[in-house]
Amino acid sequence: MEKKVTKIGVMTSGGDSPGMNAAIRAVVRTALFHKIEVFGIMQGYTGLVHDEIVEMDSRSVANIIQRGGTILKTSRCMEFMEYEGRKKAFENLQKRGIDGLVIIGGDGSFRGAQIFSNEFNIPCIGLPGTIDKDIAGTDYTIGFDTAVNTAVEAIDKIRDTAHAHDRLFLVEVMGRDAGYIALHSGIATGAENILIPERKTNINEIISSLEEKEKRKKLVNVIIVAEGDEFGGANELHHYIKERLPNQEVRVCILGHIQRGGSPSCMDRLLASRMGYHAVESLMVGRHNVFIGILNNKINYMPLNEAVKQKQVISDEWMKMVKILAT
Ligand code: ADP
Repeated sequence: MEKKVTKIGVMTSGGDSPGMNAAIRAVVRTALFHKIEVFGIMQGYTGLVHDEIVEMDSRSVANIIQRGGTILKTSRCMEFMEYEGRKKAFENLQKRGIDGLVIIGGDGSFRGAQIFSNEFNIPCIGLPGTIDKDIAGTDYTIGFDTAVNTAVEAIDKIRDTAHAHDRLFLVEVMGRDAGYIALHSGIATGAENILIPERKTNINEIISSLEEKEKRKKLVNVIIVAEGDEFGGANELHHYIKERLPNQEVRVCILGHIQRGGSPSCMDRLLASRMGYHAVESLMVGRHNVFIGILNNKINYMPLNEAVKQKQVISDEWMKMVKILAT
């Protein structure tokens, strides 16, 4: 028989993403409904190590479902990487009697949670909060939909000005290791090409395609470049294209951090609410050291360490479709 959880902690850790507040709200309200006390841990693992832990009530999560960022703040915490730091963290939980944790973050945060849980036997549940959508075992991650919609809105605007001047635009979107924001926003805005870290960039093919398009007077082109594209991002590509095609009018636009902020989309609010609700239910039934995903619209539980081992794979079918639709 599993020990019943009585007090839980919730935190946001690593890179922030829109919808984290909706997840915090769902965790707090579900726990309180079941008469479980909830503590907010400030700045991810930093607050755990340094004892910045506050009790939360239903009102402390009022009016946040629509807000981007995270009311609990987030950080990257080097001390938690060391055993001594994690021991301090455990003592801070122990003195309050906190016997379960919900960690909203990316695969790095899940790795930390897995190690912490193995060492101190604290049940941990992960919620995938990252704009990159690079975690296997879930169709979507909290924040991805909002980030992509922000990118789409910006790229649509860029296309207007590209059209007015018959220009080529290279738009760089976020994604150091994952090309999902580039892929989804690129398809949704009718981009002529999409460059992602998961695929080799064939620069000669890009140049010939631009030359061929020039011949048939298709002068407006938008190429979406993920920041981690193996060629080196939009600026690198710009220099190269200017060398090879000096007459081509090229502009670069780097969307940057606007993709992390803003009010979460309906989809992200729903995803975060469902995941937060199931995180508490999981702790209650003794389902430990998993992260919660949604696959084919059903809740899916994956061991925390799987998030580190597995990445979502971008299929060749998608890449083929991009080419066909952009001609
Ligand atoms: P994300 O969760 O967005 O992937 P990071 O990879 O920066 O972000 O991880 C967030 C935090 O998780 C780190 O700053 C660290 O405190 C903790 N963490 C990551 N990897 C480990 C690890 N191997 N051991 C202990 N803690 C870790």
